[in-house]
Amino acid sequence: KLYNEVQDLKGNIRVYCRIRPFLPGQSQKHSTVEFVGDDGDLIVSNPLKPGKESRKHFKFNKVFGQATSQEEVFIDTQPLIRSVLDGYNVCIFAYGQTGSGKTYTMSGPSLSSNSDWGVNYRALHDLFHISQSRRTSIVYEVGVQMVEIYNEQVRDLLSSTGPQKRLGIWNITQPNGLSVPDASMYSVNSMTDVLELMHIGLTNRATSATALNERSSRSHSVLSIHVRGTDLKTNSLLRGCLHLVDLAGSERVDRSEATGDRLKEAQHINKSLSALGDVIFALAQKSAHVPYRNSKLTQLLQSSLGGQAKTLMFVQLNPDVASYSETISALKFAERVS
Ligand code: ADP
Ligand code: MG
Repeated sequence: KLYNEVQDLKGNIRVYCRIRPFLPGQSQKHSTVEFVGDDGDLIVSNPLKPGKESRKHFKFNKVFGQATSQEEVFIDTQPLIRSVLDGYNVCIFAYGQTGSGKTYTMSGPSLSSNSDWGVNYRALHDLFHISQSRRTSIVYEVGVQMVEIYNEQVRDLLSSTGPQKRLGIWNITQPNGLSVPDASMYSVNSMTDVLELMHIGLTNRATSATALNERSSRSHSVLSIHVRGTDLKTNSLLRGCLHLVDLAGSERVDRSEATGDRLKEAQHINKSLSALGDVIFALAQKSAHVPYRNSKLTQLLQSSLGGQAKTLMFVQLNPDVASYSETISALKFAERVS
């Protein structure tokens, strides 16, 4: 219902802004966040350059201030997530510079602290819960994939789990293309299954991180949850898919400093984030041509962007004044697609 309010106005795209708190040791004095309204208004300014020019007003579907809990964020995301069980495709992105709280929002600070779980674990938990409650009329199966996109290459983060643990692979061809071609899919029945897989996926991701120096902030990670429901009365099959995407850091890399691999990474990130922005912008404008082909990310997510699919972007902010220009550029990106 939440979602339908804006559906007619803006297509199927919503933008939530989330401001992360200052971390212990970070000074509180220089916050760029001047005002957070209940209706999605946000005013940011540069406290070191007071004056009208530095004061900027943005409006999104929602703005979550620094004190917002993981649960509060989830409550406003839940209707979208549940629509997957009715056969919708949904994409949820976290966009922002490194350190702005993307991973915190999507996953939480760690696997083990379930009180701080982010959107992805809460989503799976909720999907299991609702599918249980519907089990006398619809039988649901849930499959999970986890990939990362680094330098325009897709890597299957669950491939090394081994065939003995692979619970099932589905043909996931969707009417308008493959979702995540070739990546291993595991069927999951409980949070225990999910956490086991996540552990493996995160370990696989971390392995490359040490080798390539914090690669995680320079790759996109995509957790895909596929749902298949069989209606017991009509025997009809229903499919829905939820992609949860922790994007690479949006910070611009100083061209004069970046060379070699670092420059190449930066160019790939830049290209894929702008391709994503262009796709969402085209969808928001209801434009006839949607440029999906310009990046691996948008190709991969094509069946979940546009058409009947629903999209939510979290634009994440670090409130520190040192991040002012990155904050403005993230907000402009989000404003363009909203
Ligand atoms: P990103 O993934 O964008 O690089 P992280 O999610 O890793 O950023 O967040 C950076 C740091 O800030 C981490 O230590 C994280 O635990 C902390 N953090 C981010 N958002 C919050 C929040 N809402 N509440 C408390 N700590 C947060
Ligand atoms: Mg991160």
